[in-house]
Amino acid sequence: MSAKKPTRTVPFFNYPSVFREDEKQLIAIISDVARRGAYILQKENEQFERNLAEYIGAKYVLGMANATDALHLAVRAAGIGPGDEVIFSSHTMVATPAAAYFAGATPVPVDCGADHLIDPTAVEKAITSRTRAIMPTQLNGRTADMDALRAIAGEHGLLIIEDSAQALGSRFKRQAAGTFGIAGCVSFYPAKTLGSLGDGGCLITNDENIYNSVRLMRDHGRDETGEVVCWGLNSRLDNLQAAILDYKLARYDQYIERRRQIAAMYQEALEDVDQLVLPPPPSNDSDHFDIYQNYEIEADDRDALRLHLQEKGVGTLVQWGGKAVHQFVKLGFEQRLPYTERLFERLLMLPMNTSLTDEDVDYVCDAIRQFYVCRSHTAAA
Ligand SMILES: *Cc1c(COP(=O)(O)O)cnc(C)c1O
Repeated sequence: MSAKKPTRTVPFFNYPSVFREDEKQLIAIISDVARRGAYILQKENEQFERNLAEYIGAKYVLGMANATDALHLAVRAAGIGPGDEVIFSSHTMVATPAAAYFAGATPVPVDCGADHLIDPTAVEKAITSRTRAIMPTQLNGRTADMDALRAIAGEHGLLIIEDSAQALGSRFKRQAAGTFGIAGCVSFYPAKTLGSLGDGGCLITNDENIYNSVRLMRDHGRDETGEVVCWGLNSRLDNLQAAILDYKLARYDQYIERRRQIAAMYQEALEDVDQLVLPPPPSNDSDHFDIYQNYEIEADDRDALRLHLQEKGVGTLVQWGGKAVHQFVKLGFEQRLPYTERLFERLLMLPMNTSLTDEDVDYVCDAIRQFYVCRSHTAAA
């Protein structure tokens, strides 16, 4: 094949669009907030927290600097520390185990299952007398089988802290990600489904003690009067970001609808390609409502497919830089997780964001089909 210039480029993620899709309105918001000098913990932040709590169906939401801090302070507020073990799926961002590590606890990686989310059977096998909590990652915008995880947690007296950074609005049996255990989080990193113009995140909880404790810890341990009543950090959400996020939250259901539409288009165009395993389609089963933070497929000849797509102008990404957490050797994990390790040779994420047109999606699917058809002809010759 000759290396012709591609007829279209489809970037994996379009960072300028986070701003440009609503440029006029965002400029007006930025100007309004900045002219009032309302930068830190002002009414926009409180309003966003209230609106988001209502949207999720949670008692409390706290705006935070990022989702990693939300998880970390949740682990601390839950009293988890030295001597305790916390079980997590190795197919996650390093932020999940880091939240436990920096609290002094030992993070214990386990395999994911066929849907790429934590495998309840693997969780059960990893439980010891030191296990205190399970941290399921609601990966790619899908919520795990929380019935199974809650049953295990209940039986062994474990806490659940959800890494729901990728799963705002995702549901299992009509209940929102982030609300199943004592705490959850959401990330507002620009490429997340609700993206800010920089870093941002929140804690989600129905537990009044966790709420009170993290509320203090995110602001230097200071109470309403300014008295320092415990040790804390600075992990506040910028008020400017809160104002922008509140504007976008009002439109969030439309973004999710579009993502689900794109997932349905990928499903229809690619379901008969034998060399691929696709994520569960949007209408697959009524227990799950997936929001498609990512569209993560498994692919034969993954690296060659990636290269082919790159030549066609299509951006793709292998999540976490291509390794499960326990595979980062410098972190010193001793576990071997053969299922997850094999999976990581096949994982690939296709473009999935609201700036894609239908024509972009068709183009990506055509390029993928062309790759496998081409190869099977070469093999037959
Ligand atoms: C993005 C992400 C995080 C971290 O979120 P930040 O807001 O960047 O701290 C944690 N876990 C998962 C699964 C993520 O995708």
